[in-house]
Amino acid sequence: MTFEDFNFDASLLEGLYSMGYKQPTPIQQQAIPVITNNKDLIACAQTGTGKTAAFLLPIIDHILKAETRHLNTLIITPTRELAVQIDQQVDGMGYFCGVGSIAIYGGNDGITWEKQKRSLREGVDIVCATPGRLLALLQAGDINFEHLQHLVLDEADRMLDMGFFDDIKTIINYLPKNRQTIMFSATMPPKMRLLANEISNNPEQINIAISQPAAGIVQQAYVVYDGQKEKLLTEILKNEDYQSVIIFSSTKDNVKLLEKSLRMKEPSLKAFHSDLLQSEREEIMRDFKGRRLRILIGTDILSRGIDVEGISLVVNYDAPPDPEDYIHRIGRTARAEKAGVAITFINQRDQQKFARIEALMGREVDKLPLPADLGEGPVYDPEANKKAAFGGGGKRPFNKGGKGGGGGNGNKKSFHRKGPKPSAG
Ligand code: AMP
Repeated sequence: MTFEDFNFDASLLEGLYSMGYKQPTPIQQQAIPVITNNKDLIACAQTGTGKTAAFLLPIIDHILKAETRHLNTLIITPTRELAVQIDQQVDGMGYFCGVGSIAIYGGNDGITWEKQKRSLREGVDIVCATPGRLLALLQAGDINFEHLQHLVLDEADRMLDMGFFDDIKTIINYLPKNRQTIMFSATMPPKMRLLANEISNNPEQINIAISQPAAGIVQQAYVVYDGQKEKLLTEILKNEDYQSVIIFSSTKDNVKLLEKSLRMKEPSLKAFHSDLLQSEREEIMRDFKGRRLRILIGTDILSRGIDVEGISLVVNYDAPPDPEDYIHRIGRTARAEKAGVAITFINQRDQQKFARIEALMGREVDKLPLPADLGEGPVYDPEANKKAAFGGGGKRPFNKGGKGGGGGNGNKKSFHRKGPKPSAG
């Protein structure tokens, strides 16, 4: 499935491609058609799955296709940081189509408060707000949702944990009954169901549960430069306890290169890729299963579907593209209750990616020191990586004037002032 399949406006496609999105993630594949069809939705998906774009893309597209422009969408978030992050994503995706949003949250000074109110008067399409400040605005009559079409509750379980149940219900009393309600939540506690029953109408349900790796897998990682990877791998493969090994690399070409350079040192090794004939692939698989072949090198096509028992070691020569792939890859070991080891090589480029994988699993993987003769690896700062991976703005291709991490202010694009597009950078 590609983003073209959703029939999005060309300017929106341009925006999402400029953000580096190539393919919809699973939550996007499932949620976008539901939201586009105006159905209510409860989606269980964690941060890192691409959930924000899963609701923003169809909403922005809807706004672009609307005949008249009003304050169209309210997104309620538990924290100021999340409100700002979503606001920034609207900026990125809506950059080429002139869809505007504003982040509204408490705890700032009177000037910012006035700017927020001014932006609202000038007109925006989307408001991302925390419950407390939003309620204050509503009660003061400073915000008008009479034309609202979409309500999104993001991280709804967290809002309930923070005690916002009643505030949310009060806010909803100010909204039109005839609207689409979309709820995203990492978990689905009973109180969520209660809220969903009260505020949504026959919602579709989607569950993108991130599987946890099997308990028997020992996960380890090395922080390396690309130039150190091959030597490190050779060292690891010297351990004869590893009788059956799968090595994952990112592309078919890399798989072939790695096979070539390891073949002399490791005769019992084969590459597995789509350029092989079906008969060749079957033979390789038979040899691997029958323990006549010790090492298999492949791309992610190897991570799904192959069911070989007793794989003792999985090496991620390149960090996998996303958390689900990581779980699938390392799940090739420790099958059927057996223990296994999964080792990931993390180069500088993949550090943020790996931080996201760790966040999704809810645990950090041990980073082992490199063997002494390999020299020093790159610097690894877990906090900085986490911040870069989740702190908002890390992936943004541009940062428009007045909209830094400090949050929304009055300096926003609005549909009442359709001037020339601000220049990037
Ligand atoms: P989220 O789960 O919304 O917090 O998104 C996690 C990260 O994935 C964010 O940095 C997004 O910009 C990024 N992202 C979302 N959708 C895609 C996609 N289809 N392709 C690549 N990155 C994406």
